[in-house]
Amino acid sequence: MAKKVSIEPALRVKDLPPYLFATIDKMKEKALAKGVDLIDMSIGDPDIPTPRHIVERMRKAVQNPAHHQYPSYMGMLSFRQAAADWMKKRFNVKLDPKTEILSLIGSKEGIGHMPLAFINPGDYVLATSPGYPVYPVATLFAGGHCHEIPLLQKNDYLPDLKKIPKTVLKKAKLMFINYPNNPTAACAGKKFYKELIKFAGDNNILICHDAAYSEMYFDGEKPMSFLELPGAKDVGIEFHSLSKTYSMTGWRIGFAVGNKDAIAGLGKIKTNIDSGIFQAIQEAGIEALNTDDKILKKLRDTYQERRDVLYDGLTKLGLEVTKPKATFYLWVKCPKGYTSGELTAHLLNKAGVLTTPGNGFGEPGEGYIRFALTVPVKRMKEAVKRISDVL
Ligand SMILES: *Cc1c(COP(=O)(O)O)cnc(C)c1O
Repeated sequence: MAKKVSIEPALRVKDLPPYLFATIDKMKEKALAKGVDLIDMSIGDPDIPTPRHIVERMRKAVQNPAHHQYPSYMGMLSFRQAAADWMKKRFNVKLDPKTEILSLIGSKEGIGHMPLAFINPGDYVLATSPGYPVYPVATLFAGGHCHEIPLLQKNDYLPDLKKIPKTVLKKAKLMFINYPNNPTAACAGKKFYKELIKFAGDNNILICHDAAYSEMYFDGEKPMSFLELPGAKDVGIEFHSLSKTYSMTGWRIGFAVGNKDAIAGLGKIKTNIDSGIFQAIQEAGIEALNTDDKILKKLRDTYQERRDVLYDGLTKLGLEVTKPKATFYLWVKCPKGYTSGELTAHLLNKAGVLTTPGNGFGEPGEGYIRFALTVPVKRMKEAVKRISDVL
């Protein structure tokens, strides 16, 4: 009889912390098995379906045999052109669709592959923390070290670039930043981006700006692209996602824009690993990028109403919350006597409300929990009522 193979995961996998949302999924399953009427505000996944005109374009595109073959590696030029037009219209940023734009299978894919393109074993990557868990993990996969820069409430959740040790700066090649920020919901403006561009140039560090939430803003205050500033294209790229803006998380489409050498480097990794985005999805992506502002405003108004309900409700309970100007998250300080993990467990077990513990996004997130605005107002009010009974 043939021998059984002993299956040993690679060290880089063994050393991984469990993916945050996989752990939360388990907690959720347990609660559901017990029959809890769960209000899930843990994951940043829109509950609102993809707008109809996008689905309709997909329905037609899928019937076109030209789309049934391998797509082009960089993405259809028509999609990249639509992304260029969108960047021009929204931010007044001019880009060459042939060299300065790359289609991605969701921005997570591009972010995850970035260190593979630029990091050698021993190199450092800077990433803000708390933050999207992909930044440190992708760094680890490439053999690099991740130096986490804390985002603190007293600094409005902007990184203090002057505090990064010189020894780290010398070995750092890439830096991930993300505004509007997940999980803190903080925004950055011109002053910070100017400082960042100078910092990048002075220290020879390639900036990777994750702009997944640039369109999820409130009160009409539009976040900017860091590429709007002079010199930005010399130091970095920006990742854009169709996922949250157009309720398209399941479709897997996004794009990277900016410095052409960075775009080419990332493209080179991709040509060797994946074969691009299904072209019918790229056609639907073109449709999405041309969405009527009225439809987007309606989506934003929905989230804004939810934000107001949850913000008012939690504030009335005496919880400390900064009112977010963008994203669909509320970053809430734990009341005295609770760690992030304890408060998350308490709200789940006693109130049937699932949130995300702040420390799951990195150590500086300890002492906070994150609510995602992904349930209707009625359920949100119910959640506030239940929380008021147990806090
Ligand atoms: C959701 C999210 C993304 C990933 O978006 P996809 O385009 O769906 O891969 C990237 N960055 C942050 C901070 C996010 O929250």
